[in-house]
Amino acid sequence: MPPPPPPLLLPAAPRATAAPAALRFAAAAASSSGEAGGGARPSRPPPPPRRPRRGKPFSRQSAIKKSFHQEQVVFSTPVPSDPSVAIIGGGASGLACASSLSSRGVRAVVFDTGMHGLGGRMATRTVAAGDEQHQLMFDHAAQFFTASDERFQRLVDGWIDKGLVREWGGLIGELESGGHFRPLPSSTPRYIGVDGMRPLADAILPQSDLIEVVRPCWISKLEPFNGLWRLFENEKPHGQYDAVVIAHNGKCANRLLSTSGLPLLTKQMKRLQLSSVWALLAAFQDPLPIPQNDLYGTFEGAFVKDVDSLSWMANNSRKLFPLQIDRPECWTFFSTAAYGKRNKVPQENIPKITAEKVKEDMLRGVELALGLSRGSLQQPFYTRVQLWGAALPMNTPGVPCIFDPLGRAGICGDWLTGSSIEAAVLSGMTLANHVADYFASSGEQPEEFAIGLHENLNKVEGHDIGQFPGLDTQPQIAEAQLTPSA
Ligand SMILES: Cc1cc2nc3c(=O)[nH]c(=O)nc-3n(C[C@H](O)[C@H](O)[C@H](O)COP(=O)(O)OP(=O)(O)OC[C@H]3O[C@@H](n4cnc5c(N)ncnc54)[C@H](O)[C@@H]3O)c2cc1C
Repeated sequence: MPPPPPPLLLPAAPRATAAPAALRFAAAAASSSGEAGGGARPSRPPPPPRRPRRGKPFSRQSAIKKSFHQEQVVFSTPVPSDPSVAIIGGGASGLACASSLSSRGVRAVVFDTGMHGLGGRMATRTVAAGDEQHQLMFDHAAQFFTASDERFQRLVDGWIDKGLVREWGGLIGELESGGHFRPLPSSTPRYIGVDGMRPLADAILPQSDLIEVVRPCWISKLEPFNGLWRLFENEKPHGQYDAVVIAHNGKCANRLLSTSGLPLLTKQMKRLQLSSVWALLAAFQDPLPIPQNDLYGTFEGAFVKDVDSLSWMANNSRKLFPLQIDRPECWTFFSTAAYGKRNKVPQENIPKITAEKVKEDMLRGVELALGLSRGSLQQPFYTRVQLWGAALPMNTPGVPCIFDPLGRAGICGDWLTGSSIEAAVLSGMTLANHVADYFASSGEQPEEFAIGLHENLNKVEGHDIGQFPGLDTQPQIAEAQLTPSA
C-alpha cells in the first residue's frame, strides 16, 4: 500500500475556501478597470478581442472536483486516556462500531437522522389498520440476511437467544416472468427480525454508559479544531471528539467530507457508486395468486427475473406472522436497479405523478412475473412507494474499513466489502477495533494505522437487493444485473 502523502497542514484553523477565490476575482477586476481608465499613461490601442480558450469547457463537475481539493489535516496532540469518538450514522455499521468501541472501553456518540428510529436501511414500517391484529407491517429495505462470519454469527445467536431473530423457513427462489418459479437451495440459514428488521438496530447497542445516541440529528459540518473534531448540525454545535467515523455514504457523506480536511477519505468516498431502487409496499385483502409448487407449496420471497420494474417480491405477512393466515397480505416489491436509475427523482420530494407511474409499473410487473393477464391483479387497499436513492453499493474497495490516522477519521459501512447487513456490521466492528488499537498505541508511528486509503474499487457481485452469502450458489445468481446509477 503506498504511504499517505506528507501532511500539508498543521492543526486546525478553519480553512477559507471561497474567500481567496473571491479575492482573486476582485483583484483581477480592479487591475483591468485601472488600465482601461488610462490615467497618466499614453493610451494604447485596445488589444484584439481574445479568442475563446481551447480545451474543456467549464463544467459543474470540474467545479466540484476543485472543491474536493483540500489540504490534509494532521492531529499531533496526544490522545487522552479516555478518548471519545463521534459516529455519524446509526445504521448497522455505525451501531456495531459504537458497540465494539464500548467493549474496548472507548466512549462513542452516535448521530443519526432517523425520525422513527435507528437502523438506516434496516427499516420496518408499521401501519395502523384497525386493531393490532390487523396492523400492516413491511420490511421496506433489508428483507433477510445470512451469516458467513463467526463474529456476525455470534451476534445473530445472541439475537436468537433474546427472541429477536428467527430463521425464515418460508420458500424462496427465482421467479421468471410468466410465473415459472424455481426454489433456491440454501446452504446456510436465512434470518429475519421477529418483529421486522428495525428492532435489531436497537439490539446491536449494549446497555452501556459509554454510548450515547443523538437522534434525529443531521450532522452538516465537521471541523478540526485544537486537536479535536467539532461537529455541527447547521450552526448548532454537537460537541468535540478525539476521532470521527463516517458511517453513511452517498451525497450526504460526499458533502460532509468535501470541506473536512480529509482528502484521502473524500477521494475514496467519491469513488463509490450506488444504485437506486424503488420500493412498493402494498397490502391486499385476499391472497395473491401465487403459482403452486407441487413439492414445496407457494413461495414467500422471490428474486424476479426478466421483468424490468421488479427484482424482488416478498409476502411480509407470511414471513412475519406465519401462523396468522387470516391477515391481509402485505407485500414488499423492489424494482430493478436499472428501472430505479431510469426513474430517479429527488427521494425527499417524489412528484405525485412519478409515484403513481412507479406504482402502476410495479403492479404491472407483478402481473408479468406471476403470469397474470393485464389488469387482472386485485387492487391493493394500501400502497406506498419509496425511492432508495442510495440503495446499494455497486463497487467496493474490498477492505473492511478505512482509517486515516493523521486526520483521526475513519469510514465504515456495507460498501467496504459488499452489500449486506453482515458486511455493514463487520465493517463497524473492524473499524472500532482499529481505532481502539490506534488510541492504545504510543502514537509514534501513526502511518502504521492507515488502512483502505488508496484501494481501487471493484464491482460488487450479487442481487439488485444485495448479497446473501451461502445463498448465491448458482451461477445465474452471480450474474445478476447491476447497472451504475450515475
Ligand atoms: C432495497 C434494499 C434491500 C436490501 N435488502 C437486503 C437484504 O435483504 N439483506 C441484507 O443483508 N441487506 C439488504 N440490503 C442492504 C442493507 O440494508 C445494508 O447493507 C445495511 O443496512 C447498510 O448499513 P450501513 O450502516 O452501512 O448504512 P445505512 O443503513 O445506510 O446507515 C447510515 C445511517 O446514517 C444516517 N445518516 C446519513 N447521513 C447522516 C448525517 N449527515 N448525520 C447523521 N446521520 C446520517 C442515515 O440516516 C442512516 O440511518 C438492502 C438494501 C436496500 C436499500
